[in-house]
Amino acid sequence: MDAATTLSDRKTVEVGPVVLLGAPGAGKGTQAKELVESFGIPQISTGDLLRENVAQGSELGRKAKAFMDKGALVPDDLVCEMVAERVKRADCVRGFVLDGFPRTVAQAEWLNALLEAGLFENQASKPLVVVNIAVDYNELLRRLTGRRSCPTCGRIYNVHFQPPRVPDTCDVDGSKLITRKDDREEVIAERLKTYERQTLPLTDYYRAKGCYVEVNGSQPVEKVTADTMKAVRR
Ligand code: AMP
Repeated sequence: MDAATTLSDRKTVEVGPVVLLGAPGAGKGTQAKELVESFGIPQISTGDLLRENVAQGSELGRKAKAFMDKGALVPDDLVCEMVAERVKRADCVRGFVLDGFPRTVAQAEWLNALLEAGLFENQASKPLVVVNIAVDYNELLRRLTGRRSCPTCGRIYNVHFQPPRVPDTCDVDGSKLITRKDDREEVIAERLKTYERQTLPLTDYYRAKGCYVEVNGSQPVEKVTADTMKAVRR
């Protein structure tokens, strides 16, 4: 998008489906929020949706909780059903950002079939673009162990390199910051192993499909955002 393109123009363009790939802690959530801001399309974070279900004590939440607490993936059928229900809502018609989905090749195959079948009537949707935010292992560990979030507004901080102004307190609304249950060290190691085993193969899968762009996620956040926006604009 050139500098002349206004924000209001961006909020009417068709973006199509965007998948943000990357390990836990790579910055998918942060970049998803940038895309939401810029293009006015929704972020669909399967982690957030699952956590909401757990908090509400829904049937899905009860089934998902045990997997999430130990850093394992929730079974594909449960997650796919939840995503299908979400992406068919009207706010996804110009596009949407999938953050944390797909996480297995089976989920990716399922998504392809869903997109090929068409989500909305008479829609000429832009093709899928997959942006992989690549960050090395030690950096991921540092980010995950330091991560704190605001339970009220969802803003994410890091005690090592992006601390709140007052310790443990959200700059925006003053809520007490929390550490996600699965950001405890023993669970983090398991989540990173799960990522390497089940999600990393998706990079080759999408590379072979020709819709894959890799962004260096260790750069300053503004540069990661600029590269992500460039990939999404295509
Ligand atoms: P996240 O916030 O994306 O790191 O996700 C938190 C947890 O939710 C993961 O560790 C998994 O247990 C579960 N989860 C999120 N997305 C998926 C997915 N696409 N497939 C299976 N499990 C998922």
